[in-house]
Amino acid sequence: MTLPLTKKAVSSPPSPVRGGTEAGGVDAFTNSERLSTPTPPPPTPPLKGEGGGPASGTPIKSIDALVAAGLVEPDPTLRAVAEKYAIGITPAVLDLIDSNDPADPMARQFVPTLAELITTPEERADPIGDLAHSPIEGIVHRYPDRVLLKAVHVCPVYCRFCFRREMVGPQGLGTLTSAELDAAIAYIAEREEIWEVILTGGDPLVLSPRRLRDLMERLAEIDHVKIVRFHTRVPVVEPERIDDAMVAALTASGKTTYLAVHANHPREFSPAARAAFRRLSEGGIVLISQSVLLKGVNDDVDTLAALMRGFVENRIKPYYLHHPDLAPGTGHFRVSVESGQALVAALRGRISGLCQPTYVLDIPGGHGKADIGAASIVGRDGCFTVRDWQGGEHAYPPGDA
Ligand code: SF4
Repeated sequence: MTLPLTKKAVSSPPSPVRGGTEAGGVDAFTNSERLSTPTPPPPTPPLKGEGGGPASGTPIKSIDALVAAGLVEPDPTLRAVAEKYAIGITPAVLDLIDSNDPADPMARQFVPTLAELITTPEERADPIGDLAHSPIEGIVHRYPDRVLLKAVHVCPVYCRFCFRREMVGPQGLGTLTSAELDAAIAYIAEREEIWEVILTGGDPLVLSPRRLRDLMERLAEIDHVKIVRFHTRVPVVEPERIDDAMVAALTASGKTTYLAVHANHPREFSPAARAAFRRLSEGGIVLISQSVLLKGVNDDVDTLAALMRGFVENRIKPYYLHHPDLAPGTGHFRVSVESGQALVAALRGRISGLCQPTYVLDIPGGHGKADIGAASIVGRDGCFTVRDWQGGEHAYPPGDA
């Protein structure tokens, strides 16, 4: 295991940025050590259309800033949360938060609470088992035909339910050094079975367009890699980063680029986010979705239906609805598997097949994803029973008589 979990990251007070940067603009991998100072984000032109101009203001990164913004009451205990887990709220997200609503689903995703100090016995620092499948720094190789390439462990926002919350943030694993990135690219190049490279982290779109273009050019030189996939929240939480330079940087000759947009509530489809999706789509990038089923955010059928329809209306094919992982201090977000299955079954009857995500669980320990939607067909007495979206059961012949 070469990606050590930095236990100090969860037990020591905030320290200067160890690697990477805050909200946007990692411009270079260093030769021998991780980046040590934040780089200001590159200037980006305003997004055009639908009033999608950039949100103004300063990102929130501390309890004091949360208090100043009226998002939390002064509370010394809350500082203990900030000592464990990074805080990050971009101006675009701040615009979406209704601070008058104590149950606001946007605030719930991004504003820290004391509930994060409660860790249950089943929770674990590496809930989906990245470390068990990490042969070298920055690579997770869990399935034969694809790898994760985690070039950076910072994000523009820090989600309170994050499954990698002990790896990301200013105190997290930082950004790969130049040598580490070289080794990661060499690992991919040496294995012809690797068909797809998934850039995740952290959020890879905090890298500058120049860095991303360099990375794409290096992947483009590897013949057996056909697909490059980015996992990101940037189009939603920092849409102004999705300018022409960024879109161009995400594509490379001979490769197909997929981008998985992470969004959990229909309010995240702001005019600026929709303009960013359009830019990506018109730039030839295939858009898919990923969402986390979260108590108090989207655990009702109306919200989930609006979320999935919102994806489709923005040319984003719903892909994964994740059951929340067993990350430390996230028990207040978890729904039961039974509730999740009932919600997904209700979606089937409510909205178009185009809007249906696959409900998945990452099996703790690194055993990969499992589809956990309720089985709609069971074998019984030499026949099958098929369950419809309203729970009605119907016999179906086995077909081999
Ligand atoms: S953007 Fe992704 S990696 Fe970053 S904090 Fe949110 S869930 Fe975690």
